[in-house]
Amino acid sequence: MKHKRVVVYVAGFGAACAGAVALLGASFLLSPVWPAPVVASRPTDAVAAAQPAETAAPFAVTRIAHASVLLDFDGVRVLTDPWFTEKWHYHHGEPLAMQLQDLPHLDLIVASHAHYDHFDIEALGNYRHKDVPFLVGPDMIAEARAAGFTDVRELKPWETWSRGALKVTAAPARHGVPEVTFMIEAKGRTVYFGADTLLIPELRDLPGRFPRVDLALLSVNGLGVTGAPVVMNAEEAAELAGILKARVAVPIHYAFTGSVFTDTFILKFFRYITECPSQCSSFKKFHKNKLTNGKN
Ligand SMILES: [Zn+2]
Repeated sequence: MKHKRVVVYVAGFGAACAGAVALLGASFLLSPVWPAPVVASRPTDAVAAAQPAETAAPFAVTRIAHASVLLDFDGVRVLTDPWFTEKWHYHHGEPLAMQLQDLPHLDLIVASHAHYDHFDIEALGNYRHKDVPFLVGPDMIAEARAAGFTDVRELKPWETWSRGALKVTAAPARHGVPEVTFMIEAKGRTVYFGADTLLIPELRDLPGRFPRVDLALLSVNGLGVTGAPVVMNAEEAAELAGILKARVAVPIHYAFTGSVFTDTFILKFFRYITECPSQCSSFKKFHKNKLTNGKN
């Protein structure tokens, strides 16, 4: 767990470009082989990031793997998109920072959509405190309740839930299946959890509702399914970090691997197309139009 625990003391280097730079830098620093005590892209940022904000309480974020992240708002703990086990064609591609049985007491679990690598409900059914509040995206309540959870609620985009120190607002998303993303607020901090959405126009409404975002957790692997993009890529994540003016951005959803076959011919095909030289521009235009028109 040590290598992925990132203590984030958010300070005032939240210009749009800084968010994007921090995101790319964090991608490097969070690699399992590099210890990363502070999210920062340059030594000067590390110093700035180490200065605690004047009014907010200490805050820590631990990437467990993929989009599973443990947020600790000074003792108020939130788990995002739980994924602890593996199966055929679903591999973390990185070591787990902690096992399910090692989780601390949680104050909230959020799950964005029903894909196995974001909603490992069979494994999560072994979590001991079944009365933990559990906020889910579309069509997931029945499965969560069947696993024994007693306080499950579906949030639709722009609906808000609050309890104690926590306030959560669902935000729009677009993916291969119905999904929401979440803005999570507690103890003076605001965290945007982007799950594995595409960068869609509706997300540009977020700054009007949440002018200060301390941390953005954003997918970067740009996965597609047989040619159609379903997850934002690193460039789009950097753009969204800028839109949000996120003080710190941490990449998620980048080490996942299926198999050589699925990675090459199904999941990452679109990336090869988008990164190919100019002769592929018609492909790019085709897919961009599909995305703009909402027909992905
Ligand atoms: Zn998914």
